[in-house]
Amino acid sequence: MKTTGQRHATVIGAGVVGISAALYLQRHGFTVTVIDRGPPGEGCSMGNAGMLGTASCVPVALPGVLAKVPKMLLPDGPLKLHWALLPRLIPWLLRFVAAARPARVAEISDAMHALQADLLDAHLELLGDAKRTDLVQKRGKLHLYETASQYHGAAPARALQTDHGIAFDELDGTAVRQLVPEIVGAMHGATFYPDVCHCTDPLAMVRAYAELFVRRGGDLRREQVRGFEIGTDGPDWVVTDAGRHAVSTVVIAAGAWSGKLVRQFGAKVPIESQRGYHVMLPRPGISLSVPIKAEGRGIILTPMDGGLRITGIAEFGGLDAPPDRRRYRTLLTHARALIPGLVTEDMTEWMGHRPSTPDSLPVIDRSARFAGVHYAFGHGHFGLGLGAISGRLVADLAADIPTSINLQPYRISRFAPF
Ligand SMILES: Cc1cc2nc3c(=O)[nH]c(=O)nc-3n(C[C@H](O)[C@H](O)[C@H](O)COP(=O)(O)OP(=O)(O)OC[C@H]3O[C@@H](n4cnc5c(N)ncnc54)[C@H](O)[C@@H]3O)c2cc1C
Repeated sequence: MKTTGQRHATVIGAGVVGISAALYLQRHGFTVTVIDRGPPGEGCSMGNAGMLGTASCVPVALPGVLAKVPKMLLPDGPLKLHWALLPRLIPWLLRFVAAARPARVAEISDAMHALQADLLDAHLELLGDAKRTDLVQKRGKLHLYETASQYHGAAPARALQTDHGIAFDELDGTAVRQLVPEIVGAMHGATFYPDVCHCTDPLAMVRAYAELFVRRGGDLRREQVRGFEIGTDGPDWVVTDAGRHAVSTVVIAAGAWSGKLVRQFGAKVPIESQRGYHVMLPRPGISLSVPIKAEGRGIILTPMDGGLRITGIAEFGGLDAPPDRRRYRTLLTHARALIPGLVTEDMTEWMGHRPSTPDSLPVIDRSARFAGVHYAFGHGHFGLGLGAISGRLVADLAADIPTSINLQPYRISRFAPF
């Protein structure tokens, strides 16, 4: 796998983060091998809501989050917990609560915003090279409030967005109906974010990146990584179900599965799967002009190339349990409450693992122990948007090029001791 005279990098994970890192490493002159047990993009990266979150400077943990949990856990609520996992989840949950302190929220929001500054630029750079800029559309995003209390409940989020100069317009119920006449029922109003873009087919995007990677001479291997053989200076070999391969520079971008891999490098990180679900309606019977987040229901409706995608649910259920089919019904029930006539013929269903840290920030870093080992994982609810910029930053780190932003807030050591 190594090429004499040229630097070589091995990326573990062919999701949006890993493939983006691989493309940027190639730009820096590395020969690159990407290893994934499945085809590119078929982890969490394929099934998301497609939002390229330039307005997402709002962490998941906000002050007062604990008081909202009981309602969120109701049968049709967006939060689910496999109770048997609770003892194992406690350290993660305690850190989540700590991340909701006002001073920490302000720091996290700044760090999210800094990461998003070049989010679109990085994707458009890669999409331009792949000749697929058509996969990104700028139609904005609508946050819908059915009641006044939902509107007031979202005030802290709007305050963070205002602090960071995010543009939005406040719409009353009448204006919302004009923009999305498909929505029925009571309507308090909405916030419209005109600058937000979305991807109309996330899987096609990662596949386009992977095809570009291979066209540029990249080595894409379909193997399950079991671990590393580590010498005095760092990992010498990656061990897979197909054998072992020599490594020098390594990037761990294995999404929700990264925790186990980084342990071998002496790093412990609180990363949990927040299982999310979608249903995709190929012929929904309506055509939305803009993606909609229904604030009180925890769902996002995104018009995509393959139809209308309805996403939602944050389920702490670990990496191994099968999808809970009740979640698909929950998503549909909420969507039909907004748009009663939705047509579900040939509907498809999906569940995937959001790689979630308690503070909503990814890990983008170099191993403290081994200079050749790098991390890019833990992007939680925001990884599709952040994939390309994270790939660019970790590739810069691996190439010893100054990064465009200070990576201190994304260091793995922020969790120590864990
Ligand atoms: C319902 C839902 C809605 C979402 N909506 C949005 C959104 O609108 N906008 C947004 O920005 N983000 C969104 N996200 C989050 C986003 O999808 C993720 O953060 C992102 O896809 C993570 O990408 P990744 O490359 O880190 O992980 P993945 O795409 O999961 O890739 C990791 C890869 O590593 C591979 N791998 C792991 N372990 C091994 C191993 N041992 N050996 C070989 N291969 C291995 C896996 O097979 C996988 O392909 C959403 C997520 C969900 C679930």
